[in-house]
Amino acid sequence: MVVRIMAVCAAAVAGVMGTVVAAPAQDYPSRSITMIVPFAEHGPTDVISRIVTEHMAKTLGQSIVTENVVGAGGTIAATRVARAPNDGYTLITGHMGTHAAAVSLYPNLPYRPDTDFEPVALLAGTPILIVARKDFPAKDLKEFIAYVRANTGTLNTAHAGVGSVSHVSGQLFNQIVNIRPTGVPFNGTAPALKALAAGQIDYLCDQIVNVVPAIKAGAIKAYAVATPERNPALPEVPTTAEAGLPAFQAQAWNA
Ligand code: ASP
Repeated sequence: MVVRIMAVCAAAVAGVMGTVVAAPAQDYPSRSITMIVPFAEHGPTDVISRIVTEHMAKTLGQSIVTENVVGAGGTIAATRVARAPNDGYTLITGHMGTHAAAVSLYPNLPYRPDTDFEPVALLAGTPILIVARKDFPAKDLKEFIAYVRANTGTLNTAHAGVGSVSHVSGQLFNQIVNIRPTGVPFNGTAPALKALAAGQIDYLCDQIVNVVPAIKAGAIKAYAVATPERNPALPEVPTTAEAGLPAFQAQAWNA
């Protein structure tokens, strides 16, 4: 899967620029660039961003410094980039949450994804998986759904803040199966995954890039991937359609 992402990233050039490049193309970049990642280190956005910036730095001959600016589902970071000088030296690796879902979930969002940013490249499409703590008492998705419906009052589910991919896709899942578990926000899904593996969280809907090693190591359970096809990184995990929940289709993007 990393190979697939790298292929996508190699074809792409950069993240989403906070501003329009003002300097003539031949002078840019004449100093180091800052790439803002709106979630915690080692999570999906961070990993995808760092793969891209490593290549960008080589191609551009300038260093690219990553800064993780967390909180409020990534909107604190996006606000900072929207307000950064209009010179092309502050970029953000945004996603479906920061640059789409947040618009409808934050009534006073201080930026507009369509006018305050210059889009540069789509970096990766990331299927969403339903994953649970390793001792979750359900052997497949049908049993999982029956269990969460019967125990919704005692369950908790993690997400990376209101409007994040995990939040929005988790809400979609909860709405389809008609449950209202307690949501626990984290600064990204890397720390959420840690809590899941430690058994502090019951389940989570997350981007595939974050969860493959933990699933393979048996540290967490995967019930289904919410795409029409199985994923080559996890060929044994059924699709939601195969597992009995075709209505749950979810895939995120980073750009
Ligand atoms: N996957 C996260 C989300 O739910 C963010 C991250 O940690 O990259 O939006």
